[in-house]
Amino acid sequence: MNKRQGPLSETADLIDALVIGAGPAGLMAASELARAGRQVVIAEGKPSVGRKFLMAGKSGLNLTKDESFEAFLASYIEAAEPLRPMLEAFPPEAVQDWARALGQEVFTGTSKRVFPKAMKASPLLRAWMQDLNVETRTRWRWTGWHADAFRFDTPDGTRLIQPKVTVLALGGGSWARLGSDGAWVEWLAQKGVAIAPFKPANMGFHVAWSDHMTAHLGQPIKSVTLIAGEHRVSGEFVLSSRGIEGGGIYAVSKALREGADLALDLLPQLEVAQIVEKLGGAKAKETLSNRLRKRLGLSGAKLALVMEFGRPLPADDHTLAERLKALPIAHQGPRPMDEAISTAGGVAWDALDENLMLHALPNVFCAGEMLDWEAPTGGYLLSACFATGAWAGRAAAQFKA
Ligand SMILES: Cc1cc2nc3c(=O)[nH]c(=O)nc-3n(C[C@H](O)[C@H](O)[C@H](O)COP(=O)(O)OP(=O)(O)OC[C@H]3O[C@@H](n4cnc5c(N)ncnc54)[C@H](O)[C@@H]3O)c2cc1C
Repeated sequence: MNKRQGPLSETADLIDALVIGAGPAGLMAASELARAGRQVVIAEGKPSVGRKFLMAGKSGLNLTKDESFEAFLASYIEAAEPLRPMLEAFPPEAVQDWARALGQEVFTGTSKRVFPKAMKASPLLRAWMQDLNVETRTRWRWTGWHADAFRFDTPDGTRLIQPKVTVLALGGGSWARLGSDGAWVEWLAQKGVAIAPFKPANMGFHVAWSDHMTAHLGQPIKSVTLIAGEHRVSGEFVLSSRGIEGGGIYAVSKALREGADLALDLLPQLEVAQIVEKLGGAKAKETLSNRLRKRLGLSGAKLALVMEFGRPLPADDHTLAERLKALPIAHQGPRPMDEAISTAGGVAWDALDENLMLHALPNVFCAGEMLDWEAPTGGYLLSACFATGAWAGRAAAQFKA
């Protein structure tokens, strides 16, 4: 290993290419650098690589989405245009080809979501690591700079690395225990890099349930339409002791974060007039909850939600039907950011050139969730991490000082 005496007492290891962060974005950047013949060191703060990637596989690793490119791109909302070249270069088909090349067959499930047949991330990560021709240093936590060298806390104390090129792939600001603690924000900001504040994305919401709900916590609410401002999303979610969470809630979480109210259409397959007809007028001695149960099939947790949020229930059937088609759900705001599936915010697009290189730090590139974009769940998150990782890795491989 080449060493150079630094301006202070420590010596910096002079290396060719450094990737910091061994999540999907960093590993993809390392793959591209190695493929281009660069000598790569990956530094990862945790004792093992890809911890959030492995966590993502626990509930079925949704790698990408099999839909038209323009529909796919539109899911990145405000960041769709900055991400376009990277996603065009590494589109959903390329994600699937890449997984197959690592021996992982994929399939398209419901809603066009693409998963590896194994569903888990571990076989894919294992094959990927075997395929990578790089040196991986775990328990190497980047802690900022010492002069112009990268400084790390390592099992052997503080170490300095001075690479020719670097790709930072440090993740967003949630699930800190898996490594993405967002500590890097301060160090990059000190170097003059513009950073949009982190916000939770794809997160659950607090609900202060009444005691009547206790028996229903843990239950799924299926086949409803979630309404948040202009957005109407068919989906399902779970009632938990903490509030509401799961795919349907995540799909409207950005709109809710931005101030939209949440309402539920509990009977999306029926029009108001059809509901009124089914309700068929009040019969003597029939309780309202019996009518909702027997005539509309609203029982269990769905009926409990009507009682929790819909009371006092309107006496006339038409207004009652309207209430069931737009039941207001009172929540107390997003759950803590650390619980969120992903985060919005991160390194601002203005801080980067078209190669994902930082204007403030020539020869330092960025990739993955640490960039300022967000997307719903559905494979979009990993897809953009792969695409930006590959892009930054290729550009870094070409970089000439
Ligand atoms: C429960 C859960 C389920 C998910 N399911 C899916 C899914 O099915 N599909 C999907 O598309 N997305 C899913 N995601 C999101 C997806 O996992 C992330 O978007 C993705 O892992 C981000 O990749 P990344 O490489 O940018 O960052 P990360 O995966 O967070 O990796 C960043 C790495 O950098 C390391 N690091 C950070 N700081 C330092 C430092 N100072 N020094 C050294 N190393 C450091 C971290 O330890 C970490 O290993 C899920 C997320 C969660 C939490």
